[in-house]
Amino acid sequence: MMIGIDLGTTNSLVGVFRDGDATLIPNALGHVLTPSAVGVDEQGNMLVGLPARERIATHPDHTAIAFKRWMGTDKTLMLGKKRFRPEELSALVLGALKRDAEAFLGEPVTEAVISVPAYFNEAQRKATKTAAELAGLKVERLLNEPTAAGLAYGLAERQEMSTFLVFDLGGGTFDVSVLEYFEGVVEVRASAGDTRLGGEDFVQVLIRLFLERCKALSAADRERIERDQSLWRIAEQAKRDLGEHEQVVMRLRFGDATHEHTITRADFEAACADLLQRLRHPIERALKDAQLDPGALTEIVLVGGASRMPVVRQMVTRLFGRLPLRHINPDETVARGAAIQAALKARDAALDEVVLTDVMPFSLGIIISQETGGRRIPDRFSPIIERNTPVPVSRVGSYCTVRDQQAAIFLDIRQGESPVGSDNLKLGELEMPVAALPAGEANVDVRFTYDVNGLLDIEVTDTRTGHKVSTVIKQSENVMTEAQIAEALAKLADLKVHPREKQENIYLVNRAKRLYEDNLGEVRQQILDWLSRFEGILESQDERRIRQARTDFAAALDSIDRGFIL
Ligand code: AMP
Repeated sequence: MMIGIDLGTTNSLVGVFRDGDATLIPNALGHVLTPSAVGVDEQGNMLVGLPARERIATHPDHTAIAFKRWMGTDKTLMLGKKRFRPEELSALVLGALKRDAEAFLGEPVTEAVISVPAYFNEAQRKATKTAAELAGLKVERLLNEPTAAGLAYGLAERQEMSTFLVFDLGGGTFDVSVLEYFEGVVEVRASAGDTRLGGEDFVQVLIRLFLERCKALSAADRERIERDQSLWRIAEQAKRDLGEHEQVVMRLRFGDATHEHTITRADFEAACADLLQRLRHPIERALKDAQLDPGALTEIVLVGGASRMPVVRQMVTRLFGRLPLRHINPDETVARGAAIQAALKARDAALDEVVLTDVMPFSLGIIISQETGGRRIPDRFSPIIERNTPVPVSRVGSYCTVRDQQAAIFLDIRQGESPVGSDNLKLGELEMPVAALPAGEANVDVRFTYDVNGLLDIEVTDTRTGHKVSTVIKQSENVMTEAQIAEALAKLADLKVHPREKQENIYLVNRAKRLYEDNLGEVRQQILDWLSRFEGILESQDERRIRQARTDFAAALDSIDRGFIL
């Protein structure tokens, strides 16, 4: 069985297409959302999902969140004494989802469709594939997130024809796609986005807003608070509460003092002005590339958890002059789409007539030196495939030497839209030896082939000799080598991960410890009593008693914790 996975910055989901419909699979705690959080406990065991996320404030040095933001970079994160690459942390999340799917389906799962932000570049896509490989999953297809959402929406609505815009604001990324659905064909007309903009930025706005008001704190204290994430949960909660209330009180205990400030929706909106402005740009670009007026859209579909924020909904409403669609669940649509794509791959009969076409969201080309009016201008971008071309696509550009006796043509491969080559993102390099001839006489054809997964292949041909170099671009430093992958596999195999059936107990214990830190006085004592009783019963190893105690303990904690679970 092939599964569909939405590997999110904040939460991840796994789904499967069964009996003609996409079903989301619950984790060991019974939730369909699994926080993309990884931690190491005191015994050196790995924690994944909610049990890990509960420890952000209490064990910031042993917990990692939002690591999707670092995919495709060489940044590593320390969890206690262990160092991890973002691929490895993502692999731990994918591994947990794989086990959940196997428990649900009752069979081994080895293949998956994984969604990625449309704007993910080559290195970020490769990192996602590597993470899956480390988790024992073969990626059948990397599917762009807004395309996945569009697929789920298009098939759910099944109108005769519709043109819609998917606005996908997740925890760490923002994607916009314009799609058309017509008689079973889902066609992406254009995609645009920002890989460094998401719900997490709105949390950071609240953290800054709050700290600015804590005049009693020294600059060093403020820095420390920002660094150790102790305010994160409070700010995350405030962000969600601002969706329901006109104002919220943020309260932080630091040292002996309690800092308390009221933040109104208006304060928050004013502080978010820059972020809201940044959201407009990709929308305008996607519409322009699709050659559509906002009025031509049948519907605006909001997906991604952060699109629940009223400030964001209002911005969208103002921009389009009408209300976006509300009835679809913004957290779940991408995973449903990934499950549908998995079924398409596996050729599920229920989806026989559906076809999906996607586009490449950015331009790909090389840096050249250009001659204009007798002057040679270096560092010019020469696009070979322009953005929003339907995929798969293969295009050729022709180039020649610029100096006499030049022995090789060096290709510096870039992704982006700037006319200045070096402003665009570097994907890699390739060198093609050519015969030493007068300038302009040695020519090469450069063929770029971009597949449906968004991965690039390059072939360079010497037009005089027919000699070809088709080695895939020299790996950029940020992409893991085969040897590094083998090493990571061995390292992950050595890690101890708590068994699925223990997850709920661990989560409750971690939650109680977090609540103990959050509270004072009698409530604290109460939590300690409950915790000791529960830990005592866990030691008894009597499954029946443990089950009952778990229910009671969860209910008791619920009675004092009004916070968000996911
Ligand atoms: P996703 O990556 O789609 O799971 O989206 C996660 C983001 O959605 C995080 O930044 C969450 O804080 C945000 N989010 C989820 N629920 C809400 C809510 N009710 N109000 C505001 N933001 C939310």
